[in-house]
Amino acid sequence: MEDFFTQFRNLSAQTPDKILVNVVDILLVAYLIYRMLMLVRGTQFLKIILGVSTFLFVYWLSGYLGMYTLHWVLDKGVYLGPTALVILFFPELRAAIEGFVPHTSFLQRLVVSKVEERAEARTVEAIVAAVAELAGDRVGALIVIEKLAVLDEYAGNGVLLNARVSAALLQSIFFENNPLHDGAVIIRGDLILSAACRLPLSDSRTLDTHVHMRHRAAVGISEVYDSLSIIVSEERGTISIASEGVLTRLSSHNELRTILNRELRNIEEGAQPERLPHIRRKRARPAE
Ligand code: ATP
Ligand code: MG
Repeated sequence: MEDFFTQFRNLSAQTPDKILVNVVDILLVAYLIYRMLMLVRGTQFLKIILGVSTFLFVYWLSGYLGMYTLHWVLDKGVYLGPTALVILFFPELRAAIEGFVPHTSFLQRLVVSKVEERAEARTVEAIVAAVAELAGDRVGALIVIEKLAVLDEYAGNGVLLNARVSAALLQSIFFENNPLHDGAVIIRGDLILSAACRLPLSDSRTLDTHVHMRHRAAVGISEVYDSLSIIVSEERGTISIASEGVLTRLSSHNELRTILNRELRNIEEGAQPERLPHIRRKRARPAE
């Protein structure tokens, strides 16, 4: 730390190229910290930090008070701890490392971002259309959309699909005779990652008494992961949304569209979302 301040004080005495190196150095560290913060947002990171701090405190206290047996057991844990953390954070770490690798040029990125925007718009419209139909027909459904969280753990306990989101596919998944209709669908970007996934149930006491497993699973996942759950009630035909542990009943599928555009595409109501290109069906050419 002292080194840092001494360097800081000497900054004015340095040559311009050394200053430039220092500025780049600081910017890189700031970027690294930013990436770390993005990495832990929407995960159980704070709980893990609390757990690790408690562990270290008890470890220190047991040594200080001379509780040799407890200290010995915890001492073994100190060596296993870092490995356990890497295992816990494996999906997030992988995503972060992938994020460091520039795999496209600037121009490619511009084109890709335009294509991605259209895919996002199409995904939102497909989800809204499916939910409107499901609610109208009183077909129960639970759709979880990843925001910053990586839900591989839950996608893995269901049936992996990796299929492009479409209204027809979502509707058919929740159709009661479909073997995949029980459980949740998990969406990542414009892909249905997995269906029939079991989610953690919320034990919140603030939820209404008429709220059961489907709604509790929707709230449960949103309590611990940065994600958005959409619930269609089989009993009432209502549409609800769960985010950050809060369950909200929506007035209609139009409200859902507004929320999805805001949460997933950063488009506020009133702003004109980009119109999707009208797809004209090509007429079949008469055989020559
Ligand atoms: P609804 O209003 O649609 O009746 P609900 O909140 O009353 O919903 P239940 O009636 O208990 O809830 O819904 C049961 C359905 O919830 C199951 O058939 C299953 O599809 C889904 N479900 C139950 N537990 C989970 C879970 N842990 N993860 C994902 N889905 C679950
Ligand atoms: Mg029910």
